[in-house]
Amino acid sequence: MTILIENRIFAHSMEAITEFYPLLSTPKNVVITMHQKPDGDALGSTLGLSLFLRKLGYKTHVISPTNWAHFLNWLPGCDNVIEYETNLAVSTKLVNEADVVFCLDFNVFSRTKNMAPLLENSKAVKVLIDHHEEPQKDAFQYGISDTHKSSTCEMVYDFIVDAGYSGLIDLDIATCLYTGIMTDTGAFRFPSTKASVHQAVAHFKQIGLNHTAIHERIYDSFRETRLRFLGNALLNRMEVLYQFNTAVMMIPRTDLIHFNTQTGDTEGLVNYMLALEGIKFAAIVIDRDENARKWSFRSKGAFDVNKFARAHFDGGGHKNAAGGLSREPLDEAIKKFKSVLDEYEAELSEPYQY
Ligand code: 5GP
Ligand code: MN
Repeated sequence: MTILIENRIFAHSMEAITEFYPLLSTPKNVVITMHQKPDGDALGSTLGLSLFLRKLGYKTHVISPTNWAHFLNWLPGCDNVIEYETNLAVSTKLVNEADVVFCLDFNVFSRTKNMAPLLENSKAVKVLIDHHEEPQKDAFQYGISDTHKSSTCEMVYDFIVDAGYSGLIDLDIATCLYTGIMTDTGAFRFPSTKASVHQAVAHFKQIGLNHTAIHERIYDSFRETRLRFLGNALLNRMEVLYQFNTAVMMIPRTDLIHFNTQTGDTEGLVNYMLALEGIKFAAIVIDRDENARKWSFRSKGAFDVNKFARAHFDGGGHKNAAGGLSREPLDEAIKKFKSVLDEYEAELSEPYQY
């Protein structure tokens, strides 16, 4: 099989994804990868793209940098996803032998954790499809980075349709893509839910999508310990800072152990705090890792948590949903958060405008 583009010196910035469309008709050997601890959008988009490319005769392998939440295991094709951390040799071989590596739902290699050097050093043609801020554009030969898009799944849908293959979208592909669109839009509530999102969903419904089953698989799949963990977090670990229209939650390691939490159990926890009337900013810090405490930030309206996370917590994301890290112990991380909040008092203390 010939490599897509030989001896080509790439420009400093990636070429438009549209330039890749003509290349689709020549099947290649591809790896499709995503950010660590993949969510519904990361797994949905990579699996949806993989199923589509296979229909074009491609040989595809989907590799996740780490494990993921059990409530995503039912996704079509999920059984074949290779976990990098537990399959180092196989993953390395596949990346090294790939003609093309598709990078979905992340835009800086550091988001793939231990897999980053493998991707960075890969000689394959790299294609980016992503909707996060500040992409490392010079690392990709082709791609699209659009922060206005609801989800990477919506972008994969556009990729398939715009390249002229709308007719190849079957129920499995629709199921994968719907999952990421649903989860990344907070079940169609965030401002990113444009008409184009509902149009894609209408297409999926026309080919038989069972959206109720998907919603139940994702949101009604708690183990008892997870629901009790949530109850404890809301009762005992949340602080409401009314002068800043902010709520913050702190999860100590002991809670994670006591409730036997598993990957995915803390997902969505931060969003509950946005249910408080008038709250504009919600933050959670979890003492999961030896090396760092993990922050998640969510906002409603104009408050930009991507900027906040970048400025103070070595993170990033989107305007209304971002993440970050603290190297210090949990109580110091919280102290830092509260002291940083002072800088935003003028912005946050104004009542929320519906
Ligand atoms: P979550 O809070 O669900 O982990 O992440 C919210 C959003 O922020 C996601 O889109 C995620 O990709 C992004 N994000 C989370 N953590 C980080 C981080 O440490 N760095 C950057 N650049 N983005 C992050
Ligand atoms: Mn996403």
